[in-house]
Amino acid sequence: RNARQCAPFTLTTIGYVESDYPDKFGIPRQPGLAPAADASLVLVPPYNDPLTVRGLEDFSHLWVSFIFHQSPERWTPLVRPPRLGGNRKVGVFASRSTHRPNRLGLSLVKLAGIEARHGVRLKLEGCDLVNGTPVVDIKPYLPWAEARPDASAGFAPEAPALLNVSFSQDALETLTMRADSTTLHALITQVLGQDPRPAYKRAEESGRVYGVRLRDVDVKFCALQNDEATTLNVVAID
Ligand code: SAM
Repeated sequence: RNARQCAPFTLTTIGYVESDYPDKFGIPRQPGLAPAADASLVLVPPYNDPLTVRGLEDFSHLWVSFIFHQSPERWTPLVRPPRLGGNRKVGVFASRSTHRPNRLGLSLVKLAGIEARHGVRLKLEGCDLVNGTPVVDIKPYLPWAEARPDASAGFAPEAPALLNVSFSQDALETLTMRADSTTLHALITQVLGQDPRPAYKRAEESGRVYGVRLRDVDVKFCALQNDEATTLNVVAID
């Protein structure tokens, strides 16, 4: 049979992600950039048989294939990567855009543990997925085959530069009252350090207060600019 005549494929959800990110906004653009972000991948029947993950505990990292379920189904041949300031276009297949045919995503994540007594729950670290993301496959990562430090990486040659992050007294007081204050402080610092503000708005709206939801809180922040650097200041944690 000619490949062009192939019938469409159907994918089945094998599990869902529970993550520290209730919304798309603010999530770092690749995995590993906010290691304090905790997530679980919860398998669903019939894939939640503990046999499906036997041996997986010996691997430190996984490839997770998922669906960008919060992206529209429409796609275009050219996209505007935020990395290029949101105004230059590249081909959709030259990007990691979420607006793509089939809406398939691929993230390399750290496996922090496996709970497989009643069903299967994989504990993940540093994932870049919104809460509720449907997962369609999992594979162990093989560094000897898949790590290529000498590879060229086009318009994204290195990890983005980090912004400074500061906290108002109010925000710090709210944090100290929480049981997860240390990890939440780290998560906020790592997420805001990536500068989640839309690229095209940064210059024109420097005084604006933004909000990003992390875990069960709404983090309000604004940009403080001086000659040398931009700092994102956490104004409040509600
Ligand atoms: N590492 C993956 C890849 O390369 O396929 C994802 C990269 S994509 C640029 C990362 C962004 O996807 C995040 O910043 C977040 O805004 C968005 N995102 C995460 N989960 C999503 C979902 N389920 N549906 C739509 N967008 C999602």
